[in-house]
Order: sequence, then structure tokens, then C-alpha cells
Amino acid sequence: MALIECPVCKKRMSSKATRCPSCNISVGEESESAARINSIQKSTQLQTHSFLALTLFIAGVVIWFWGGEVAEGKQALVGAVCFVFGFAGYLITRVRIVLHKRKS
Ligand SMILES: [Zn+2]
Repeated sequence: MALIECPVCKKRMSSKATRCPSCNISVGEESESAARINSIQKSTQLQTHSFLALTLFIAGVVIWFWGGEVAEGKQALVGAVCFVFGFAGYLITRVRIVLHKRKS
């Protein structure tokens, strides 16, 4: 059993106690809700990433087929890079979202 400092009154308390014996703040619940907020922020961040990757992917397709013809030269290269990075980024982010959901 270790002694930790109460986040509110700074008095020493057991790390296993869910409530501080001095000020009665519920330490266990506090850290749990902090973890939940962290988890929500993480999943929001992942949603943003997947949205950005999808946008890049669509931009790549648009650049590639701009004007109804398959692009050539530099434009084709830019389109292909956007397409590949957007696609890979989207897949990776989807996997991370699934892993994140499984964990929480
Ligand atoms: Zn306290």
C-alpha cells in the first residue's frame, strides 16, 4: 500500500482509498471521469483524422479525374499521392477507432 497526496487538501492518504479521509473527496471517481474525458477526446481526435483522410482521398480522386479525363504528369502525381495517403490514412484511422472502442 502506497501513500499518495490528496489532489484537493494535499494530505497524505492511501492510494487504494476511493475517498480522502480528511476532505472526503472521491478520488477514485475523479480519476475515472478524467479517463473517460480523455477517451472521448481521443475518439473525437480519431474522428477528425478519419474525416481529414477521407477528404484527402476524395481530393485525390477529383484531381485525378479533373475535367473528365485521366490526369497526366504533375497533376496525376499530386492526385495519386493524395489518393494513396488519404486511403492509407483512412484505413489506419478506422483500425485505430476500432481498437480504441474495444479498449474502452
Ligand atoms: Zn483531501
